[in-house]
Amino acid sequence: MVFCRVMSRITLVGLLPSEMEDLAIELGASRYRGRQLATWIYRKGVLDLDAMTDLPRDFRAALAERAEVGLPETERVTASLDGSQKLVLKLRDGGRVSSVVMPDDGRVTLCLSTQVGCGFGCAFCLTGTMGLDRNLDASEIVSQLLIANALSPEQRVTHMVFMGMGEPLANYAALVKAIRIFTDPKLGLGYSPRRITVSTVGLVPAIEKLGREDLKVNLAISLHGATDEVRGRIMPVNRSFPLPALMAAVRQYPLAPRQSVFFEYVMLAGVNDADEDARQLARLLRGVRAKVNLIPFNDWDSSTFQRPELPRILAFQKILMAAGVTTTVRWSKGEDIGAACGQLRELVSA
Ligand code: SAH
Ligand code: SF4
Repeated sequence: MVFCRVMSRITLVGLLPSEMEDLAIELGASRYRGRQLATWIYRKGVLDLDAMTDLPRDFRAALAERAEVGLPETERVTASLDGSQKLVLKLRDGGRVSSVVMPDDGRVTLCLSTQVGCGFGCAFCLTGTMGLDRNLDASEIVSQLLIANALSPEQRVTHMVFMGMGEPLANYAALVKAIRIFTDPKLGLGYSPRRITVSTVGLVPAIEKLGREDLKVNLAISLHGATDEVRGRIMPVNRSFPLPALMAAVRQYPLAPRQSVFFEYVMLAGVNDADEDARQLARLLRGVRAKVNLIPFNDWDSSTFQRPELPRILAFQKILMAAGVTTTVRWSKGEDIGAACGQLRELVSA
């Protein structure tokens, strides 16, 4: 097999456990050594080859020559008053991404990025103003979790949401590979897929493909409009994948007995927050096992949108609830440190 080489060295973080076994063979050792390596990195969170004491010295030497752990540098950790922390990681080409650790109610949720920037240009999203720089590789996605878990060992990440920078389903192969590493129960990180949520702008073919992977992760759809007219005005992607096609793909996504699809709906004053919008949303979701998350718009410099007043948000929620749609209002974490939904934008070069 061909390993991903960076300056001719293999990056260990982001390899599937089976690829570590292949690597061990390539280095003249047994597959067992590869399994030990995966256990050290993913199960024990040990990233220093010298600390992997049960690996024979010559195997460690061969590894050190051919491979590197390959974790990005943690450039900055900013703590918010609400307990969340934003991590800015500097990638090997100088690019930067952030992830956000959000402790709440016994859970610790990590918000992960999948791309540097984003090419979908949703009108209300700061990340969207950057354009797409590049996809992250699986190593850079998995690293975000390893770094977050190392931050404070007593506060290990319990849940993951792919809601950081970028569109996860536009970086499909790396996303799926990272999820396989996160969920591998024996040699990977052992997370339940039900604790992982992939949020998408609504890429229909990729939603269908994800459904066929049997990954069992939660799906979140960034909806933000209940008609093609409203959605099309704020989300250019709606031209390629209008609501009937999107909802057909959502209805086909395989769900476990008590699992629902999440719908995110950023509340924009005067754009999508009228009673009629709520009624249309309830109609759109009829017969779908859905949970709606209303996200009051998070402001950023030079944006043209406004957050509705609280009574408007609550009235909107009430209409949905009365129609039998489970609806929560999500007050973003980390607003004071630029870590809230749609506020992630890091300078790209050093
Ligand atoms: N690209 C993916 C995932 C990242 S965005 C997606 O769009 O689903 C995570 C969520 O934050 C999305 O639902 C997005 O629409 C929302 N969001 C973007 N900008 C926002 C803002 N300024 N205020 C509130 N939510 C925002
Ligand atoms: Fe990209 Fe998601 Fe922002 Fe849209 S909301 S621009 S898809 S990150």
